[in-house]
Amino acid sequence: MHINDAVFLEDLCPKFRLRQWRKSIHKFTGKSCIYCGKPSESIDHILPRSQGGLSTTENCVPACLSCNGDKSDENVLRWYRKQKFYDPRRAMAIRAWYEGDLRLAIRLLQWANPNFTRSNKNHEESESRYNAA
Ligand SMILES: [Zn+2]
Repeated sequence: MHINDAVFLEDLCPKFRLRQWRKSIHKFTGKSCIYCGKPSESIDHILPRSQGGLSTTENCVPACLSCNGDKSDENVLRWYRKQKFYDPRRAMAIRAWYEGDLRLAIRLLQWANPNFTRSNKNHEESESRYNAA
C-alpha cells in the first residue's frame, strides 16, 4: 500500500484510521498479550476509561480477553503483581509503555519472551548497525 493512499483513506474514513491504529498496537508486541504473552485479542486501557484513561497509544496495550476482563478497573501494576505469570521485565515494559517509551517497552518484552518476533526485522537490524557506528 502506498503511504499517500493510506493518508487519503484515513481522511475519508475515521473508522479506517481506528482500525489501523488498533492493528499497529497489536503489531508492537507481535500480537501477544503484554501481560501474559498469549495471543492478544483486545486492547486494554492501562488507566481505565472509567478513571479518565484516554484512548491513546501510551494508555492502550494489547491484551488477551482473559487478562483484560480479569484486570478490570484495578491498578494495572498492583493487579499484575498478583498474577501467576508475573514477570518483572513485563512489569517494566508496561511502565515504559505507559510513559510513552514504546521502544524500551518492546525491548523489555523481547527480553521476557525469546520467541518474540517482530514483523519489521530489517528496521531492527539497521538500527543496531547505526548504534554500533
Ligand atoms: Zn493475557
